[in-house]
Amino acid sequence: MIVIGITGGIGSGKTTVTNLFQELGIAVVDADVIAREVIAPGSPLLTTIADHFADHYNLDILDASGQLVRARLREIIFADSAAKEWLNAQMHPAIRDEILHQLEAATSPYVMLSAPLLLENGLDKLCQRVLVVDIPEALQLKRTQQRDSVAQSQIEAIIAAQMSREERLKRADDVIDNSGDTSALAPKVQQLHAQYLALS
Ligand code: ATP
Repeated sequence: MIVIGITGGIGSGKTTVTNLFQELGIAVVDADVIAREVIAPGSPLLTTIADHFADHYNLDILDASGQLVRARLREIIFADSAAKEWLNAQMHPAIRDEILHQLEAATSPYVMLSAPLLLENGLDKLCQRVLVVDIPEALQLKRTQQRDSVAQSQIEAIIAAQMSREERLKRADDVIDNSGDTSALAPKVQQLHAQYLALS
């Protein structure tokens, strides 16, 4: 199975680009979606995590309907690095297992693995090629703010926590420059699609 990793900083346009590949019949495995699925209400992993924070931190991270209250969890892992490490040690293997499961289940000629932290988390080891969606930081700020209406400082903090643009580009096999209009994307995607089909 040929796996093409796709990554890029916050608001760079990964979803916009993977939607175009999906329209061409290519399966897309999205690490962000999986990260939410593995801790869906009632899932065994969410129960494990909720029990841990109840027992060790006297903290209830679930609301009345059994849904994770992300803000409560964020607060504790921001303040306590051991809590963060413990949580990551639970989450990362579960996410990885589900990614592998979905990659194996895909039936398209090749499959895309989309993850904002593909390179940071070593998921590129599962991929034959890495495609980076690239835009300048000013555009990342502008587009993310338009989409999410969150504070500029919050987006800047996320950008600072992700790999630098230069480092990411150094590790790319292919690059999509998404600084132009969305209409410029389709021809570029078609060209890459032909290239990836030739690999498969
Ligand atoms: P994140 O990592 O934050 O989930 P992403 O990399 O998946 O983001 P998208 O959600 O695809 O990025 O794009 C970010 C925002 O920018 C969206 O609102 C999208 O509609 C818009 N956008 C994407 N590409 C362009 C473009 N070329 N021109 C204008 N707006 C764009």
